[in-house]
Amino acid sequence: MANFNTHLMGAAAISGLAATVLVMGSAVPHQAAIGYFVLGVVGGLLPDIDLPTSVPVRIAFATLAVVAGFLVVFTFGNRYSLIELIVLWLGCFLLIRYGLFTLLDRFTVHRGLVHTVPMAIGLGLATTALAFHVFNASVIHSWLCGTFLAMGFVVHLLLDEFYSVDLFGKKLLKSSFGTALSLGSLGQPIGTAALYLAVAGLFFLCPSPKPFAEFVMDRDTYRGVTQRLVPRDTWFPGFLRRITPSGLSDS
Ligand SMILES: [Zn+2]
Repeated sequence: MANFNTHLMGAAAISGLAATVLVMGSAVPHQAAIGYFVLGVVGGLLPDIDLPTSVPVRIAFATLAVVAGFLVVFTFGNRYSLIELIVLWLGCFLLIRYGLFTLLDRFTVHRGLVHTVPMAIGLGLATTALAFHVFNASVIHSWLCGTFLAMGFVVHLLLDEFYSVDLFGKKLLKSSFGTALSLGSLGQPIGTAALYLAVAGLFFLCPSPKPFAEFVMDRDTYRGVTQRLVPRDTWFPGFLRRITPSGLSDS
């Protein structure tokens, strides 16, 4: 299994690259790209939330609880009174920090249902639905949020899978091989069925994926990257001139 730092770096590298591609193509505004990046990193840390004893998980949960509370407050900020907002914020915090956390603690076995591909898809769809219905995001923006979260999640599963393969040892495959990138849990048939049902249900809660699919397929989305993949004549043109103080060139 890959450790916390590997997961953090892996998810940050992939999400950063994907967000950069979107920014280069001027397909999305910068602020949105930063949001996607954060969602990708969060996705990369999520699969191990079923290890409630680990410190990073506790920190991540507390942070998630605070951030989610603020997001709710910002969204409803101009609609409710201060008292109502504080109640909302507290409710959100308690629900995530204690409700969700306890629920996970009690009902999950590590590498159980949380650590699966359908869970990645389900959480991605939940993010999309949440962005669309609660935060009034556009269809494409909502789907991008969900896609980045699911992508980070899958990167985590892949990293765990790679780390279970010992390329240099005599024993090529460790016993944990194949358990990371699983499609369900044979030991939990009812839970697995419920998970697939939930994924299907969540899909119907999401806005139509058609505009998003067109956005992804559209060549214009990547135009900035294909045009600027490698430097045209010199590397970093004008960069040296820009970073050296003008007084130096006189002497
Ligand atoms: Zn893991």
